[in-house]
Amino acid sequence: MPSFEFAQPTSLEEALQLFAAPGEVRALVGGTDIVDQLKTGRRNADMVVDVKRIPELQRLESTDDGLHIGAARSCTDVGEFPAVRSTYRALADSALLIGSWQIQNRAGVGGNVCNAAPSGDTIPALLSHEARAVIASASGRREIALSDFFAGPGQTVLQKGEILVELILPSPPANSASSYLRFIPRNEMDIAVAGVGSFLQLDPANNTVKKARIALASVAPTPVRARAAEEALEGNVLTDDLIATAASAAVEAATPITDVRGSAEYRRELVRVLTGRTLGICRDRING
Ligand SMILES: Cc1cc2nc3c(=O)[nH]c(=O)nc-3n(C[C@H](O)[C@H](O)[C@H](O)COP(=O)(O)OP(=O)(O)OC[C@H]3O[C@@H](n4cnc5c(N)ncnc54)[C@H](O)[C@@H]3O)c2cc1C
Repeated sequence: MPSFEFAQPTSLEEALQLFAAPGEVRALVGGTDIVDQLKTGRRNADMVVDVKRIPELQRLESTDDGLHIGAARSCTDVGEFPAVRSTYRALADSALLIGSWQIQNRAGVGGNVCNAAPSGDTIPALLSHEARAVIASASGRREIALSDFFAGPGQTVLQKGEILVELILPSPPANSASSYLRFIPRNEMDIAVAGVGSFLQLDPANNTVKKARIALASVAPTPVRARAAEEALEGNVLTDDLIATAASAAVEAATPITDVRGSAEYRRELVRVLTGRTLGICRDRING
């Protein structure tokens, strides 16, 4: 392990001063990505800042303006939070399948987002719920759509001195539900060959899709929204045929590579299958 300075600030102000210091300053939540990356030289750091003691980054609260997830909250905390289990189910689906129980207890949802792996499991779930990212630096704050947060594999739009403070998910409307599924060749401890997060809102009067949001993992340089599939759904009566049409349209958003986990063709087929299944789960969840 290369040597670096280490700090554990207890306030956001103190932390932002540290991130403003010259050199490479990196945040640590669970360390399940960054420790290995530092050890193997895939990332470097002059200072590592453990952000878990900052109260604002530990916020986990459901309010009138939505669900606030502090950037240092663990996958277990988020996945087991009552509002997440009842109302943001794609997020519970995804947070509680990352790695193992031990990994979920250490790893943060914010860490999963900031690591920006195309395969990050919580990301499609968050995108399907139209999450927003609150970013802070010593010179101020900004809020962006999470869909604008990713710049490439392992790359985000965070600038020097900026950290993720929290994610905000708007309160879902009535008659809506979400779902996340991924495919891995074994039961756990593997990276998604493909993953799909879906959100559906139905009009109970006529079973028409009022809103659809679909996001894909592991099939492009960043997590991506499947906009053609969303458009195919919205305004139409939700039938099995419509789900099949949308599932095929979702493949348009995938630009996968072939690697050791699966061929590009296999990944495209997974997108079709997983999109169909997640939409079916959303329908079942809405119908109780
Ligand atoms: C055995 C094992 C199994 C795994 N299985 C899965 C899996 O199934 N699915 C999956 O998606 N991932 C998996 N991972 C990867 C990893 O566990 C997740 O990405 C996890 O959510 C990362 O969270 P963390 O808190 O440990 O991040 P950390 O390692 O602490 O940080 C990750 C990155 O984000 C940056 N960062 C963290 N917080 C902030 C912040 N507030 N502001 C700015 N930057 C920040 C860090 O500097 C670092 O670059 C696995 C890892 C291991 C070791």
